[in-house]
Amino acid sequence: MTTHDGLYDITFIGAGPVALYGMYYAGLRMTRFKAVDMLGEVGGGLMALYPEKYIYDVAGFPKIMAKELTRLLKEQALQYPHTLCLGEKVTELTRGEDGLIHMQTDKGNHVSKTVIICAGLGAYIPRRLDVPDVERLEGAGVHYFVRRVADFADKNVLIVGGGDSAFDYAMMLEPVAKSITHIHRNDFFSAHEDSVRKVKASRVRMKYPFWEVERIGGEDHVREVTIVQSQTGEEETLPIDDVVCNIGFLTNLGPIEQWGLELEHNAIRVDSRMRTNIDGIYAAGDIVTYDGKLKLISTGCGEVAIAVNNAKNYIDPKAKVSPGHSTDRHEIVQKKWDRLRHKKDD
Ligand SMILES: Cc1cc2nc3c(=O)[nH]c(=O)nc-3n(C[C@H](O)[C@H](O)[C@H](O)COP(=O)(O)OP(=O)(O)OC[C@H]3O[C@@H](n4cnc5c(N)ncnc54)[C@H](O)[C@@H]3O)c2cc1C
Repeated sequence: MTTHDGLYDITFIGAGPVALYGMYYAGLRMTRFKAVDMLGEVGGGLMALYPEKYIYDVAGFPKIMAKELTRLLKEQALQYPHTLCLGEKVTELTRGEDGLIHMQTDKGNHVSKTVIICAGLGAYIPRRLDVPDVERLEGAGVHYFVRRVADFADKNVLIVGGGDSAFDYAMMLEPVAKSITHIHRNDFFSAHEDSVRKVKASRVRMKYPFWEVERIGGEDHVREVTIVQSQTGEEETLPIDDVVCNIGFLTNLGPIEQWGLELEHNAIRVDSRMRTNIDGIYAAGDIVTYDGKLKLISTGCGEVAIAVNNAKNYIDPKAKVSPGHSTDRHEIVQKKWDRLRHKKDD
């Protein structure tokens, strides 16, 4: 176990899109900041779940791929001096009698004047198909995410599910796969109408309503899948190399539940300044709840801007909560950071 490398002003738990945007503001407010994330790379859900999906509802980007948005968020965040602790899971968090926030991770300890929890939904656990052998074939043809489109080139693919992910994956894989069959067990889709229309017009073979997976066959890899129409009992066995399941996620807050935070429906309750019930601990993004909460990248980014600027005022009550306009502040802040960098080098 290593001990922390000094006292930080702001520590972000998580390095997803919301924390990354928070890091930009932490730099703009001249704070010493750090982020700790259990994943091996920044980007949170964008990189772990859907790096090659397009996002259409981020301000100023009519269409942007998740991994490209992550790259830009990272560039914006890491222009300022920072510390990233990746592959490190925060297991315990307490506010000490010294008024500082103490964090225990699986690799060491950290101490910070304030903490902003941007831990998303905690751990993402994809919902499994309820058929024999599915667990055995995970990683051998059974997928829950499409990380690299090229892996599906010339493959016979079965996509399961009626939500946005299922339709987005169908559109993503259609140009490269040998064949795509898309099944759904309900008689309605929860995906955007436009996505449904596009997939229907493509060469994707859609089987709905009421089609579900009955059996997955294959020894060391998926070879075939039997699907069944649950109302009529009609069955079809298809040669399939890859099954992409999109039937939802179970989420688990894990250790966060034990940190003494006020929780509601698996989320941390915050006030309008993104404060939790513990002084010095703020939260933003998918992990929070308040009246009217929406779990979106754009709302999470707004929340973390509020959290960081209030944390700045908590650390230094003479500092205003409002950061001023970046158009005015950017160059001044750059010069200040440069001076600090040079001072350190001397
Ligand atoms: C398939 C899919 C498509 C989506 N499409 C859109 C869309 O089009 N537009 C949109 O606005 N939103 C979309 N979303 C939602 C969007 O991804 C989330 O709102 C966003 O990722 C929330 O960001 P976050 O930073 O709060 O959390 P996350 O992105 O979940 O990041 C949280 C990070 O915290 C880390 N973490 C958790 N617990 C700990 C711990 N104890 N210690 C250390 N690290 C920890 C995790 O490893 C993770 O990296 C989509 C979601 C999915 C699943």
